Amino acid sequence: MGEKASSYTILWASQTGNAEWIAKNIHSEAKERGYVGECFGMDAYEKAQLDKIRVLIAVTSNTGDGDPPDHSLKFWRFMRRNKEAGYFNNCQVAILGLGDTNYSNFNNTAKRLEKKLKSLGATVFYEKGLADDAEGLENVVDPWIEKLWDALPKVLEKKSEGNGANGDVDNLANKVEAVKIEESPTNTNPYSGEERAKNVPPEAQKYLNLENSLIEPTTNPYSGEERAKNIPPEAQKYLNLENSLIEPTTNPYSGEERAKNVPPEAQKYLNLENSLVKNKEKEHLGHALTLDFSGLQSGMQLSGMPRIPAASAKLVRLEKTRSLNEAPTTQCVVTPTPITEAAVSRVQCLTTHDAVKRTLHVELDIGDGLEYEPGDAFGVVAPNDESLVEAVLERLVPSTAEGYQTLYNVEGESLPTHLQNSKSVSLADLLRYVVDLTTPPRKALLRLLAEYTTEVEEKTKLIYICSKQGVSQFNSVREQVPTLLDILKTFPSCNPPVERLLDALPPHMPRYYSIASSPLKYPGKIHFAFNIIDYKNLYDVPRKGVATPWLDQLTGFVAARSSKNPTILDVAAKSIKVPIFRKENANAFTLPSDTKHPLILIGPGTGIAPFIGFLQHRQQQLKIRKSMGGVGTHPSRDIKKEFGDIWVYYGFRERAKDYLFEQELEEFVKDGTITQLRLAVSRESNKVYVQDLMRQDLDKLYDLIINQDCSTYVCGDAKGMAKGVNDVLVEMLVQHHQLDAVAANKLLIEWMGSRKYLRDLWA
Ligand code: NAP
Repeated sequence: MGEKASSYTILWASQTGNAEWIAKNIHSEAKERGYVGECFGMDAYEKAQLDKIRVLIAVTSNTGDGDPPDHSLKFWRFMRRNKEAGYFNNCQVAILGLGDTNYSNFNNTAKRLEKKLKSLGATVFYEKGLADDAEGLENVVDPWIEKLWDALPKVLEKKSEGNGANGDVDNLANKVEAVKIEESPTNTNPYSGEERAKNVPPEAQKYLNLENSLIEPTTNPYSGEERAKNIPPEAQKYLNLENSLIEPTTNPYSGEERAKNVPPEAQKYLNLENSLVKNKEKEHLGHALTLDFSGLQSGMQLSGMPRIPAASAKLVRLEKTRSLNEAPTTQCVVTPTPITEAAVSRVQCLTTHDAVKRTLHVELDIGDGLEYEPGDAFGVVAPNDESLVEAVLERLVPSTAEGYQTLYNVEGESLPTHLQNSKSVSLADLLRYVVDLTTPPRKALLRLLAEYTTEVEEKTKLIYICSKQGVSQFNSVREQVPTLLDILKTFPSCNPPVERLLDALPPHMPRYYSIASSPLKYPGKIHFAFNIIDYKNLYDVPRKGVATPWLDQLTGFVAARSSKNPTILDVAAKSIKVPIFRKENANAFTLPSDTKHPLILIGPGTGIAPFIGFLQHRQQQLKIRKSMGGVGTHPSRDIKKEFGDIWVYYGFRERAKDYLFEQELEEFVKDGTITQLRLAVSRESNKVYVQDLMRQDLDKLYDLIINQDCSTYVCGDAKGMAKGVNDVLVEMLVQHHQLDAVAANKLLIEWMGSRKYLRDLWA
């Protein structure tokens, strides 16, 4: 090996913030260890001066089915164009990929990056790490980073001895690694309710054993019933209100009773599924996690904990406050294109109340503020659930008013991307829009929380969870999909400053939806459809998504579909606004400009959404063409020839329950927009999926794809469906095109490059 380099460059490409966070942590640790270098997002590759890099550490995640993250598309365009064989001759690389084995092209981006860098002359100085989110990224990321520190000295010089303990950088890791358990918290528990109760001063003893007390009740003279006896007569009427602290027996103030007093014009909004009227209860009080600490033994040596993440963000309190009735603002949100506040103009529910999923179809009024074409998607900037935000604020910030009205600037040396617009922002908006409160925690977050936990037993447990020895507890934490509040509830003496959470929590991501309309049919509007996600974790604790429950509240006035023709509710008058922005159509998932081009469209469930836009577009183009009139003896036949065949493969569970866009699809068949509509019904008699129908049609598909140069579009779930469809196309090429499976797969990849086979796959 030649001369060592004097500095390193880290490049990251992040979809949800993980790769950025990991890259920046490697950067800060490298600096602490005495190395000199820089860290850039891949799209800032010009600043990074790629041709001068001697030691490159690249951290990249994947999106869709092994596609590069949105923030690295510019970088990838540059790399694709770069054919200079010796461009990276002086560069030594180490690559860390973040992927998920649930998807067929596991960590494709990291593999492609290594291949491309090597083809341009780079050599690998440390074998790539391919982390798998299905098992927990940490399982690969942590040891990969640990061993990076052994590999780096071979190619890179240190500039100083770093600022680790006693100047000895190798002690740096040990400083946090060795935690000796002094107590055996599982055998005797000096921090139990009973033990702590012994230290309560006499004047406070009467407050013990109140219902909901932190200390377990045994007999309860202060129960709801008992205390109710002392309530003065004029306050008796407030007893037994729903959600009262005092247990209801009969409840004259129940939802049903109160509904009787709702004025007639508002009656129609009662009892609708997910109506705002029904959803009154405060949902987020936090659920303590169920964890087994029997493995945590006295005298145990814990190791392998992550470093405590370095703080990059600082909250600077401003003199300004925000008035109480001012609405939350999305100004602090970092988005790739500007945010438009789009009014909801129409809503309908596409499924019946007994369907497996509830799907809503929403129309937004975008005026002329946002241009799009069928196949585009957009991002919705949805807040975290308000009751969760409130509860986290109440838990972490002693005065709620402080959190809601006081304004701050977030400052820092190298702020993570998601904090870069956080100026004049309230803590509430930071928790609403900027940080993720619902994604299962990283180990490093738990390590940070341990730093701010005062009870020794709780602190020890937190450190145990993020140690090598506590890996099954860590997995159990993640499986329970806790919110930040659940974690804080599990460790009541944990009180981190909000400031420290800003860069330790993942960024709150926008949610993306395909546009299900054509601007030719609905100028100034966009339509989209989405499923409401509600589920319970392993311990029966309810969990839900972020954007869809929020949208569901906004649009929750609409009843479930009861017949073939769902009611459409015009909600324009309600001036409900949704902050949205246009997403770059990275895969150019759009219609070919030549209408003669035949198409195969495959999209089960809400995967049909972009194709509704395609079909509306073709329908309108056909109408426009017809209105122009034809010449010759068979004008309408001649016009028809200008429009290629369209075959649609669509799937749902039961025709009567979740056949989304039923009416519209059947109209497309009737007016000739769709040549053939193939419906895969999965739960009526046999389980039939779209790929099963394709398998029945292999001859026809071959004719369309090979003889008529048809384009094949696939939209939907990246995990199962996309692979099933790909397998059928391979089968078709093996049977009819005399290729073996490897060559068939290679041809399909070529078709992806030439836009003959396009996929818009969703995690
Ligand atoms: P879904 O309701 O879960 O499923 C629709 C149909 O697909 C059901 O009949 C289901 O059958 C079947 N199915 C299940 N596994 C399959 C497999 N391996 N191969 C083929 N078919 C299969 O669909 P969805 O939840 O709407 O999901 C569609 C996907 O499209 C999601 O990943 C979503 O994120 C994505 N997407 C959403 C949008 C949007 O704008 N909202 C746009 C584009 C794509 P069984 O359940 O009976 O097995």
